[in-house]
Amino acid sequence: MARHIYLHIPFCAAKCPYCDFYSESGRDGLSMSKVIDGMVSEIDSITTDDVIETVYIGGGTPSVIDAELIAKLIDSARNRFTLSSDCEITMEVNPSSMTLAKARTYRKAGINRVSVGVQSLNDDVLKTLGRLHDRAGAIECLRMVRDEITPNISADLMIAIPGQTMEDISNAIDILASEGVKHISTYSLTLEEGTVFYSRYKDTIEDLVSPETEREMYHMTRKLLSSRGYIPYEISNSAIPGYESRHNSSYWEGEEYYGIGPGSHGYVDGVRYCHENSIDGYITDPLYTTVEEVLSEEDRMKEYPFLKLRTAEGMDKGEFYRRFGKDICAVFKDALSKNIVNGLVEDTGDHIRLTDRGLDWYNRIAEDFL
Ligand code: SF4
Repeated sequence: MARHIYLHIPFCAAKCPYCDFYSESGRDGLSMSKVIDGMVSEIDSITTDDVIETVYIGGGTPSVIDAELIAKLIDSARNRFTLSSDCEITMEVNPSSMTLAKARTYRKAGINRVSVGVQSLNDDVLKTLGRLHDRAGAIECLRMVRDEITPNISADLMIAIPGQTMEDISNAIDILASEGVKHISTYSLTLEEGTVFYSRYKDTIEDLVSPETEREMYHMTRKLLSSRGYIPYEISNSAIPGYESRHNSSYWEGEEYYGIGPGSHGYVDGVRYCHENSIDGYITDPLYTTVEEVLSEEDRMKEYPFLKLRTAEGMDKGEFYRRFGKDICAVFKDALSKNIVNGLVEDTGDHIRLTDRGLDWYNRIAEDFL
């Protein structure tokens, strides 16, 4: 039962030097329009009575394409599916490609949540990141979104960037809060193989930003966010209560979703599938997908800690029993006792969650449960 839709727009104005998401730059309007036609035919191929609770238009940079194409995509989802009356419809935008006319089209199309790729509000740091916007452009974009589309705004912030200081981050959080941003996602810079940053920094990154500094920045950022009323509800996400991302929360709940568009991933009827990272391949056959994994009940049970330990709430013992008919403490006895003894995980009675120290070791802890 899939009640969520992810739509991947694989276009960017330019490739950022640190990014390994699937997107292409330099494509013309015709390719963009053909991809959207493919996505519409993919949407039309789906038959379901499930009511859709969230739609997420991500990328890439959805705001680089003609805004009417976004409206067309949302219209086709409305025609094909029943969207719930409070359906969350999120769209990612970048400051460098937003215009007033686009903002008005998005609002008319029904976008009710916008995620802005701010990343930093320090011009030098933005230059290091190779972003196309500056601090003034980011603030202007936030105001345009708030005034023309919705107050339900999320902003992405990157930390642990060479040359960045804690003061930059604190300043950015102050500004985002004063601009009324409701949700902030924070990501540490990671060097992904095959990116420009990987070649540039692979031998020097630990001198420029040590792992200790990265962790210090992470914890300081969470503290600053909390002091501004943004409650960290997941490892990388904090929100003013009531503004948590319903779409992303569905992933951590292990819920199913349709993945539409080149390079997208989906999970429907227990099958994880993906579209290949190819715009031309997608235009030729938008319905072609590859099965990545068929999940058994056992797989879903093992995946539960991996997803839920990311959340502040943690693993819910009662929910686990209702889903799988088993006692979570018995199923994961060894992993639990090891990590509780090490002070990385705590048992609150009805939940099991990471401790503050455990936040630094999420990947290793999650592996213990696999
Ligand atoms: S705009 Fe976003 S998706 Fe596009 S290259 Fe930059 S970081 Fe990647």
